[in-house]
Amino acid sequence: MGMVYLNGDYVPLEEARISVLDRGFLFGDGVYEVIPVYGGKSFRLAEHLERLDNSLTAIHLENPLSHEQWGEVLTRVIGDVAGNQSLYVQVTRGVDSMRNHLFPSATVQPTVFAMAWEAKPRKPEIARDGISAITLDDVRWLRCDIKSVALLGNVLLRQAAEDAGTEESILIRNGQVTEGSSTNVFLVLNGEILTPPKTNLLLPGITRDLVLDLAREAGMPCAERALTRATLEDADEIWLTSSSREVVAVTRLDDDLVGDGKPGTTWQRMDELFQDYKARLSESHA
Ligand code: PMP
Repeated sequence: MGMVYLNGDYVPLEEARISVLDRGFLFGDGVYEVIPVYGGKSFRLAEHLERLDNSLTAIHLENPLSHEQWGEVLTRVIGDVAGNQSLYVQVTRGVDSMRNHLFPSATVQPTVFAMAWEAKPRKPEIARDGISAITLDDVRWLRCDIKSVALLGNVLLRQAAEDAGTEESILIRNGQVTEGSSTNVFLVLNGEILTPPKTNLLLPGITRDLVLDLAREAGMPCAERALTRATLEDADEIWLTSSSREVVAVTRLDDDLVGDGKPGTTWQRMDELFQDYKARLSESHA
């Protein structure tokens, strides 16, 4: 790993230190982004920075850096690594003089952190076989649109999926599909690609938006629509999307096969479009 960024300095990861009074540590009072980097090029950087702005606005914290400054910081953190990476960006409400729920005075500066790590290529068996998932009650709070570092609900739901021998949990609130513990959910039903609309109950995924854009450009029927739990059983295909998992097919849900238990033809088409998009980004001079 190259240098990480912390509050204006570029230092080796082992040397990056924050106070135990940091509100990110004490209260989970902060927000973050994970941005894929393909061949040194950030994936949908403007969209990620806009979502960071939205998360910061929602928690009443001003963005400490302009988009231009973020661009410079992230370029340095990416360094000259040629392979694919994941960029992690975090802003917390900073370090107060004592633990206190109330926002600190305006003189307290946010803590700003960024690091990058190598992104491992997808395992061939994931493209070949898909993954398994379980459905679980969405026990999280009602502001899942904020990309908060307070991820205890997501952590417990992800671990529950793992403990059940599966790779992700698909969350249900009041009978409706919301999202995965760290992914957005799509399904293919009667030839249409469907995903729940953006509300306070799910994260507006950057990969989700790209999948919808790619589907529309390719003339594949798609729609944003509320999805009941029952639609998961009727679906011919179920996909999960995220910056780190890209678009992955769920081929086993709870104790049942999805479709014929293999990644479907619509997923194959979308995965091709997605891999093409990545390849074009890597080769671009932007
Ligand atoms: N939902 C949740 C809860 C997530 O944590 C993530 C990934 N961080 C996503 C959806 C997918 O978002 P993106 O495509 O922007 O990675």
